Amino acid sequence: MKLYELCLTEAQALLQAGEISSVELTRAVLERISAVEPMVHAFLYCNCEQALVDAQRADVRRSAGGPVSPLLGIPLAIKDIIHVRGIPTTCGSRILEHYVPTFNATVIDRLQAAGAVLLGKTNTDEFAMGSSTENSAFGPTCNPWDLSRVPGGSSGGSAAAVAAYMALGALGSDTGGSVRQPAALCGVVGIKPTYGVVSRYGLVAFASSLDQIGTFGRTVADAALVLQTIAGHDPLDSTSLTDPVPDYVERLKKTDGLNGVRVGLPREYMVGGMQPQVEAVVLEATATLEELGAELVEISLPHTPYALPVYYLIAPAEASANLARYDGMRYGLRITGKDLWDTYHLTRGEGFGPEVIRRIMLGTYALSAGYYDAYYIKAQKARTLIRQDLERAFEKVDVIAAPTTPRTAFRIGEMVNDPLQMYLQDVFTLSTNLAGICGLSVPCGFASVNAADPGASTDLPVGLQLIGPALGEPELLRVAHVYEQATSWHQRSAPL
Ligand code: GLN
Repeated sequence: MKLYELCLTEAQALLQAGEISSVELTRAVLERISAVEPMVHAFLYCNCEQALVDAQRADVRRSAGGPVSPLLGIPLAIKDIIHVRGIPTTCGSRILEHYVPTFNATVIDRLQAAGAVLLGKTNTDEFAMGSSTENSAFGPTCNPWDLSRVPGGSSGGSAAAVAAYMALGALGSDTGGSVRQPAALCGVVGIKPTYGVVSRYGLVAFASSLDQIGTFGRTVADAALVLQTIAGHDPLDSTSLTDPVPDYVERLKKTDGLNGVRVGLPREYMVGGMQPQVEAVVLEATATLEELGAELVEISLPHTPYALPVYYLIAPAEASANLARYDGMRYGLRITGKDLWDTYHLTRGEGFGPEVIRRIMLGTYALSAGYYDAYYIKAQKARTLIRQDLERAFEKVDVIAAPTTPRTAFRIGEMVNDPLQMYLQDVFTLSTNLAGICGLSVPCGFASVNAADPGASTDLPVGLQLIGPALGEPELLRVAHVYEQATSWHQRSAPL
């Protein structure tokens, strides 16, 4: 086994036992990046030299003895929408192409304090708007399972980096599914925590009432370890919760299977339009949950059909306000025109890509006088109904099981001219963000692309989505971990 193939938990054990050093591990991962990154394009910036310096420092720190964080010396990748002081944050956008933040996001402060090694910044749809990374101004990322396909998005670079063994774990952001959906399409684990569990300070804002930083790993325990390190109250983010962070990893050790766990199967999530194999694989996964002791309970989330329109009113509305700051005055791109108005116009017209412009226009429209009540307020009311559906469901069940995505990874270019088809890729993940609760995707099988698609070179991963109530992470992670340990899907490697 190559060092870069180690999962985070395995690497941690070997580091701690003194059998490998962080420099060896980091060097192996950097070599892996040199070998496969030209095919995958997961990174927008590689922090190679600094990563080795950090690895060396981690080794010194470990040899000094004393208590160490589980992430000490572990190489991780960061979505390029989270600020790391001194290296560019582009958000996949021309408008921030040369922007270098002078401060760290809180999550980065915490990773650095833990001694993690930051490998670089990963590709994203522009300002995290998209489901495929094709909206990145710097070109798409390719799915390591089939390079002609998308890795999902918007955190597609992070998911692909973990799937291609170019990082042992990664950070992403999830506003409507952008951690879980690419995790599903790349065959890795992705967690979106409850709103407020992780500080958003230094995460570039897309839709502030929905955005949450999440984590990727090749196993549930790996993703949980990264989450453990970044979670917890931050006075710099007024929406960050003050609740103490439970020991997620300790909880995984509780081994009585899934006895007594009630798993809800929402009727509305298994309806028409899904790729038949995805549906079959997810149903099989729920049967496995039952075999492991869980009780399956059919539930109803009647307002589910409104999630998509509600999200595509609220997210663009918030985005239109958040993105007003990119005006060429303070930072980022500036194209000077004949007057102030012209400068705004040229800067934003050149700097933003078509999807971002579409969202700003949609959002501005929904917030404008005369339409505000009809669209924005209506959407907020429907959002409450969606949240109440879920609250009611969690009176009866502990977690909800559903597909993460309606289909496996699609071809690059297949949906770029059909925004509505693209929006539909998140139909199962949006409600979690609208309700502010937690969810994750765990590998649950493979679907071979049907005969109508003769170019298919391989089986493509399918994700099982598990959704938990607000602050339900400990049990959510445990259920996913028990499922994962009873199956072997997470052990398959992308054929790179
Ligand atoms: N794909 C969704 C969108 O385009 C969700 C994005 C996200 O979670 N950042 O808005």
